Amino acid sequence: MSRSAHPAGPRHADVLPEGHYSAPAADLNVLDEKVWSRTVTRDADGALTVGGIAVARLAEEFGTPAYFLDESDFRARCRAWADAFGPDADVFYAGKAFLSRAIVRWLKEEGLNLDVCSGGELTTALDAGMPAERIAFHGNNKTVAEIERAVEAGVGRIVLDSFQEIVRVAHIAQRHGVRQRVQIRVTVGVEAHTHEFIATAHEDQKFGIALADGQAAEAVRRALSLDGLELIGVHSHIGSQIFDMAGFEVSARRVVQLLAEIRDEHGVELPEIDLGGGLGIAYTSDDDPREPHEIAKALSDIVTRECEAAKLRTPRISVEPGRAIVGPTAFTLYEVGTIKPLEGLRTYVSVDGGMSDNIRTALYDAEYSVALVSRTSDAEPMLVRVVGKHCESGDIVVKDAFLPADLAPGDLIAVPATGAYCRSMASNYNHALRPPVVAVRDGEARVIVRRETEEDLLRLDVG
Ligand SMILES: *Cc1c(COP(=O)(O)O)cnc(C)c1O
Repeated sequence: MSRSAHPAGPRHADVLPEGHYSAPAADLNVLDEKVWSRTVTRDADGALTVGGIAVARLAEEFGTPAYFLDESDFRARCRAWADAFGPDADVFYAGKAFLSRAIVRWLKEEGLNLDVCSGGELTTALDAGMPAERIAFHGNNKTVAEIERAVEAGVGRIVLDSFQEIVRVAHIAQRHGVRQRVQIRVTVGVEAHTHEFIATAHEDQKFGIALADGQAAEAVRRALSLDGLELIGVHSHIGSQIFDMAGFEVSARRVVQLLAEIRDEHGVELPEIDLGGGLGIAYTSDDDPREPHEIAKALSDIVTRECEAAKLRTPRISVEPGRAIVGPTAFTLYEVGTIKPLEGLRTYVSVDGGMSDNIRTALYDAEYSVALVSRTSDAEPMLVRVVGKHCESGDIVVKDAFLPADLAPGDLIAVPATGAYCRSMASNYNHALRPPVVAVRDGEARVIVRRETEEDLLRLDVG
């Protein structure tokens, strides 16, 4: 198909359909550094490069779709979080965002700790050499086998999420002759999403133990009474992709209040609080995330102030960013397959992946950006919807975006900020082969998670 053989679809503001999108950028060739990883740039030929390597070479060597992860950016973000919080706080990377053995090694080298929430994540962490005392084990329904392994390995903390679990972990620890360090996860009645938060008494969700009704205080009572447990603190995680610090403020205030009640009732000042993760990143140019040092200052100011008011020693703070570390460091590279202009609506651009490598758009109505990356173009902006190749009309990768109107099959396009919750939530729907994760750094590219093969599929299917 020649580049002029298909109509470009609607382009001008007066014919654009309803939708949640901003006007096209003044120049579609400019890569907004907010949404791309730090070493991404365009070379003299107009092709996107990452870590000094052009996407055409990456596509040729590793195929598409594929995730390309900017290793130096990942390491720099780890250091920025560790430096921002300093020696009196702990940063735990939330492994569920994306975990592999290479990631674990980088975290270890850059001084971060690691959250896991399943036996599989724990195995990956231990196998890659993360010291067990730097691992926190999470989850609302850890199996007995998972708890056994965590206790045996000597994880630094288990975050208790229910009354049953308090007893289970205590028994298992006692059987192993250890006192397991634990935190209790409380729900503080804050629901936070992106730009707003709602403070309520109750939260209608499965995680944690409610502060309301004195449930959390009762959990503390039980934990303190059991020999197998060393209660080191209280944990609160309020949501995801949050920009507004006000939700953290309410959360910290309620957690500190609980610490004061514990002191009054039991005469102990718990030494730690964990304020969870959920810090937002830029998926599109409209998002303005805060820098780690601003977040660290805001959180420590809130906790210090609340503790002074309650006459408590300021506890050691920990945080658990997942998305904010890995999210911005990777993009997904796709090859354009078919292009369908729908008159008066938008142009559907189909790529060689889809909801199997990025479920977030279908699952959360997430917004993403997209750019033509194998070349530049001076063509008019065209309103597009980037869709996958799956048998599902909800198989959308980017709902509303603009690409140049001369886009053609065979072009490479890339979706930035796919480092978090894309590969880790990838599926085999339609027997898709999950894409590889390729780490790129200083002119070298290296597969850290290989592409799935048809043999992999058949190996699990025992016939
Ligand atoms: C998911 C999760 C995180 C990480 O959330 P991000 O949005 O990736 O920062 C941290 N802590 C807990 C307990 C979580 O469940």
